[in-house]
Amino acid sequence: MICNRHRAISILFGYDPALLDYLFTSSRQGLARPASTLVREAALIGQAAPVQVAVALDFWDGGRRSRLADVTRLLDAHRYDCFIAALEYYVAAGAGACRCHRCSQRRPKTQKTVAKRVALLPGTPSFEEDTNVRA
Ligand SMILES: [Zn+2]
Repeated sequence: MICNRHRAISILFGYDPALLDYLFTSSRQGLARPASTLVREAALIGQAAPVQVAVALDFWDGGRRSRLADVTRLLDAHRYDCFIAALEYYVAAGAGACRCHRCSQRRPKTQKTVAKRVALLPGTPSFEEDTNVRA
């Protein structure tokens, strides 16, 4: 089964093999290097590359590295179109709940992390508070 996260990243990169080779190992099963190194050294590829890599890593692990301001400021028209297409695919395909072998294995940890983050956001009602509002 094709990984939806991987597909979203391919769309984001405009299927550029150089960027895909930069991000992933040759087997495409994992990241070529630590995420922080990938973002930092992407500047050597070009001005837009760190932004593209940060967004790709967010698709990959939900790490919240990318900033929308950087996306709109630093991506040219073609790369921005790819970003929008990737985002549309990610949402439509439910890539956050990808059922490929790799994503299925790591899902419990990812869901726990996301749930914890949402719970920490200011103004996030707890389940009990939500129930009270409806009562
Ligand atoms: Zn997957």
